[in-house]
Amino acid sequence: MTRALARIDLGAIERNCARLKVELGEGTELCAVVKADGYGHGADACASAALAGGASRLAVATGAEAAQIGRRFPQVPLLTMGALSADDLEDALAAGSEVAVWREGFRELVSARGRAQGRPVRVHVKYDSGMGRLGSADPAEVLALIRACAEDPQLEVAGVWTHFATADEPDSSFFDQQLERFAEVAAAVKAELPGVAAHAANSAAVFRDRRSHFDMARCGVAVYGLDPFQGDPAERGLVPAMSLHSYVADVKRFAAGDSAGYGRTWRASEDTWLGVLPLGYGDGVRRGLSNNGEVLIGGRRHPLVGTVSMDNVTVELGPETDVEPGEEAVLIGSQGGASIRAEEVAARLGTINYEVTCGISARVPRARA
Ligand SMILES: *Cc1c(COP(=O)(O)O)cnc(C)c1O
Repeated sequence: MTRALARIDLGAIERNCARLKVELGEGTELCAVVKADGYGHGADACASAALAGGASRLAVATGAEAAQIGRRFPQVPLLTMGALSADDLEDALAAGSEVAVWREGFRELVSARGRAQGRPVRVHVKYDSGMGRLGSADPAEVLALIRACAEDPQLEVAGVWTHFATADEPDSSFFDQQLERFAEVAAAVKAELPGVAAHAANSAAVFRDRRSHFDMARCGVAVYGLDPFQGDPAERGLVPAMSLHSYVADVKRFAAGDSAGYGRTWRASEDTWLGVLPLGYGDGVRRGLSNNGEVLIGGRRHPLVGTVSMDNVTVELGPETDVEPGEEAVLIGSQGGASIRAEEVAARLGTINYEVTCGISARVPRARA
């Protein structure tokens, strides 16, 4: 019996990467994105599994993440994708990471750091093809920035890249617009600097459109077996890597009218049984699931009733139950023939599967197998 436990299936991560590699074909490298502690799955172990499955590069968002991953995998090319302060830049470079350059001022800072460390820094120049975050939206400015990097002996232009805003929306024509804009910029860059890698695709883009693959794809969510389109991961041959487990700490009789939890938001409509599970929003079981979620016990779904507390949730077992204290409960994952996917939990919360797994808090131990 474990209070709260996230099991991480590293074999699933390996197979998901192999699946992505097949989708990508020969000329495209798979870069496994392990930011935010591997979307809550644990960055180090997931990076190892992803590399075993065919990823040849890794990416993170922050300087601290680069420091962790770069030291652990010194032989694997690493890209830090986010904007970096001077201190973060130092951390990322000390870890051997390649970095994003999105404006002239930052190029100068990276150049100075390259001089200080006595070896050129590999940079990926970002083009804002429509995401509206980092990078210039003007192709001429992007080309000028790339030329400035190429002429700088402290820098080496490793990549030109962009990010899609609507890759997960199957009918979006904006995706096609971004793709066309980027393809033009990438072609112009390669005409001058043939060795530069172009990359644009996230997980959704990989499945959606082969033309988005270019030289490398930056995949996160699919690596973890989560569906980029918020549907069923199995339809794309993906296997969810995380499951979330607890146990029934108490089984109690409730008479009609009795209430459970803060604010008495739920009352028994008839005589019934409740199970108490010793985990809550302090573990990342979001309060928005109050009277709005389900839990697997004994291979069957049971409704989460009452308000989710920081350290407890209550589950209605029904007027007749054979559930005993000590039985396993599954909040995400499978039990018997039943399963609750992160996508289902996300839909109940009005969010996406990414936020569900990232939100499983540091209080929950991860058991990797
Ligand atoms: C997080 C991130 C990715 C990975 O996206 P997924 O949808 O998880 O595959 C790719 N590129 C950038 C710039 C990111 O920030």
